[in-house]
Amino acid sequence: MQTSNWVICPKCGRKTHTKLREDTVLNHFPLYCPKCRRESLISADKLKVRTIKDERSESQTQ
Ligand SMILES: [Zn+2]
Repeated sequence: MQTSNWVICPKCGRKTHTKLREDTVLNHFPLYCPKCRRESLISADKLKVRTIKDERSESQTQ
């Protein structure tokens, strides 16, 4: 009966405050982690999360 999931931060591996439903589709979503205070670009489809490498966001986040 698992219809939603917390998104795990790809930087520190802990739970963020962002949830996914099984019908949630994300494309290049800027995931903010309150634990390590960094932003990761992710895509998600059917509870599968993929991390996007984006060099621009690294230099913009200051
Ligand atoms: Zn984190």
